[in-house]
Amino acid sequence: MSNSNPFSSQRRALVGGFAALAAAGATAAPKRADDAAAGLPPPVALRDPRELYPKPPFQQQSQPWPGLASKMTPKPDHGEQSYRGRNRLGGRKALITGGDSGIGRAAAIAFAREGADVAINYLPAEESDAQEVAKLIRDAGRKAVLLPGDIREETFCVKLVDDAVKQLGGLDILVNNAGRQHSADSILDITTEEFDWTYKTNVYAMFWITKAAIPHMPAGAAIINTASVNAYDPAENLLDYASTKGAIANFSKGLAKQMAKKGIRVNAVAPGPYWTPLQVSGGQTQEKLEKFGGDTPLGRPGQPAEIATVYVDLASSESSYVTGQVYGAAGGRGNP
Ligand code: NAD
Ligand code: MG
Repeated sequence: MSNSNPFSSQRRALVGGFAALAAAGATAAPKRADDAAAGLPPPVALRDPRELYPKPPFQQQSQPWPGLASKMTPKPDHGEQSYRGRNRLGGRKALITGGDSGIGRAAAIAFAREGADVAINYLPAEESDAQEVAKLIRDAGRKAVLLPGDIREETFCVKLVDDAVKQLGGLDILVNNAGRQHSADSILDITTEEFDWTYKTNVYAMFWITKAAIPHMPAGAAIINTASVNAYDPAENLLDYASTKGAIANFSKGLAKQMAKKGIRVNAVAPGPYWTPLQVSGGQTQEKLEKFGGDTPLGRPGQPAEIATVYVDLASSESSYVTGQVYGAAGGRGNP
């Protein structure tokens, strides 16, 4: 794979007419003269999911944890050029952990373009990725709030929620999405410190942040946690990580029953393989990274942009009967 951005042809295609569109695996949507008259936005073009994005083999690459999206080859697509909002979250106020990159960034861009003000949390080492997201949120005409810090500390989690509530003027969407994934071939290689790190980031922080957020959330609010296909089919090299994802799916379903009494919906998303910094900063072995996503029926990993609408759906009050669910988006494999 070359170092040039393989999405550039797709981006050109999205703005550049039929020939380029067809070349990138997409078919131009038919023009419908009545759409504009009916107040509809332009139609979403028909696109072949097999051909939209890069497939393995990927070039070997490694970054120090937590990794930056800006340094990945190819660069992930978070919907920067393509996501179009329809005001599905107009006036809403969202906090997204891990909102600087990957799936969290895709959700942040989509939420802002759907009309929400967005606060993101991330680690100080990710400031450059976070600044890119802040600009995208502001370009969408919404308020961006940057709240860096380490969620492995309960005191920081409580302050994070307080600061988000103060700066957003409330909170009605919480996305617990930050995650720690570190590959280890054997249980014998997982130290207590490593195990603790994974559980603190993925499970304890979700518990602390959610607990701090609920008193601020009105009826109609939504909590969305990020689980994984590993919740159901654990990878043998991700024992600690996969078991946190099982806990997240289970916690989401239990909390949904409790929160129904307050009118707050709680759901989880279970992504399959997505091309994000998590995977190139210790989340996978180099051997697995080269073939990443190749074992899915679509034959490639997902790009964060491809899962953003799942977060929008779960956040939107249009999904008022959807609670206690785990939504998958995994290229044809995995549960649920
Ligand atoms: P990512 O690296 O872009 O996002 C993870 C984020 O977690 C980082 O950006 C970082 O800001 C945050 N984070 C990690 N430790 C933190 C800490 N101690 N304090 C504060 N923030 C911290 O990767 P991603 O793949 O988009 O991950 C987002 C979520 O998606 C994670 O929960 C991950 O487990 C889940 N997920 C990813 C995949 C995949 O294939 N990429 C598959 C299933 C689930
Ligand atoms: Mg990041």
